[in-house]
Amino acid sequence: MKKVLIGIGVFLLLIVIGIFFLFPQILFIFPFTQKWALELEGEQAATFYFKNEAKDSLYMKGVIYSNTYNELTKVLQENSSITTLVMEEVPGSIDDEVNLIASKEIRKHNLNTYIPNNGWVASGGTDMFLAGVQRNIALNARLGVHSWAGLDKVAKDFPKDAEEHKKYLNYYKEMDIPTDFYWYTLDAAPAESIHWMTPLEINKYDVVTPTLDLSELLATQKQLASDEFAGRAVGKNQKAQKLIRNRFQQIGLQSFSENYEQPFTFQNEKTKRTVNATNLIGYIKGKKYPNHYIVIGAHYDHVGIIKDTIYNGADDNASGTSALLTLAKYFSKKIPDHSIIFAAFDAEESGLWGSKYFVDNPPVSLKDIQLNINFDMISRNPKNEIYAVGTYQYPKFKVAIDSVAKYVPFLQVSFGHDNPNDTTKDFWMRSSDNGPFFEKNIPNITFSEEDHPGYHHHSDDFENTNPEFYKNVVILIKNTIQQIDQNILD
Ligand SMILES: [Zn+2]
Repeated sequence: MKKVLIGIGVFLLLIVIGIFFLFPQILFIFPFTQKWALELEGEQAATFYFKNEAKDSLYMKGVIYSNTYNELTKVLQENSSITTLVMEEVPGSIDDEVNLIASKEIRKHNLNTYIPNNGWVASGGTDMFLAGVQRNIALNARLGVHSWAGLDKVAKDFPKDAEEHKKYLNYYKEMDIPTDFYWYTLDAAPAESIHWMTPLEINKYDVVTPTLDLSELLATQKQLASDEFAGRAVGKNQKAQKLIRNRFQQIGLQSFSENYEQPFTFQNEKTKRTVNATNLIGYIKGKKYPNHYIVIGAHYDHVGIIKDTIYNGADDNASGTSALLTLAKYFSKKIPDHSIIFAAFDAEESGLWGSKYFVDNPPVSLKDIQLNINFDMISRNPKNEIYAVGTYQYPKFKVAIDSVAKYVPFLQVSFGHDNPNDTTKDFWMRSSDNGPFFEKNIPNITFSEEDHPGYHHHSDDFENTNPEFYKNVVILIKNTIQQIDQNILD
């Protein structure tokens, strides 16, 4: 009788225990005694059920109790189709021993766990949720934690190395959850109340598995490349700025300035007019090397409307902009070792003005920027080929890319366009926002495809995106950044 959400009717329970103690045979007479005990607490015993024919999602509602392990293993044995346990309302467990073995069964079967919209899981239910291989919660779902308590003692009455803590600590270790999580739950709330975890706490303890939001990747590219955004020409791309700003805010990126803005002006070479432009810059503080930075950059501007035709620039560079936002969201949940600056550059098309301004007016010292990773056109290629440019100058990053490329299927990762002596290929070290970083001797890698018929053509529309290719490129980039962050940079 340890982890139950609702204030436990200890008194009633003592009576129940008393009855069992005086008449132990009752346990054998009534197979559903435990449910009956639960009903005394006003709680429903956990049940498992399906909502669709496919039977890939197993739903669960109610308090985990002595029979939960048996019921769960039975339903798992009978339905090999189950991939996900959807926990709708699981307030806790009244039998932690059973809860932990049932939870280990969930992990053994490689199930994912999910809390749907408006769903909530607490206490021992939260422990069970952690058994999912991939763990996800909907936007309005809640996860509650608190300390456990015995009949006369609470968890913190026991010394840290006491036996009483060990089964939990071992369980979290087994589930690959930082054991700090356990000590945090003891402080979060006393046994008779509950603490609903904040998004920050959920991230901190790896409660939810971070995943790249690849459907949002495509949706955002589509949105930026819609006619509504009118081709995002510099000086006229406030709508795109607003989208990026709102997204930075939602993700919770920190800002060096008000509203993430880095405004600047430049002179249009043809008209000689002064143009107002704006970079948008947010960042995440790294957990191990907070003063060393990786700058992830992509230009969000395009060429706008030419002779009454909208140039939507889906590939150039709504693809890179959306990738930037997707990665920002991912790394906000999976905090990197190094700090990462996310820079959406303006005015690339008219001469790399945004990235030039950035390196001339950096928000942190240039010597602390260890790497720039730039994406420009990454969503379509007939040969499924993506170039990683810059490894000729900075070969240690080629090692990192090679080590992750083999795990991204159907993608041809090529190197080149960075050797000035190679006359067979254009030199790309100055042709996108990597250029200004290159000029300042800041290591940089650009991901880009070779030009296609849609390049700077009004046919550069979302319809021509190759979703599988694009998603694979973003997975490659994410894995590359992690590899570099954890194993290459110091
Ligand atoms: Zn471009």
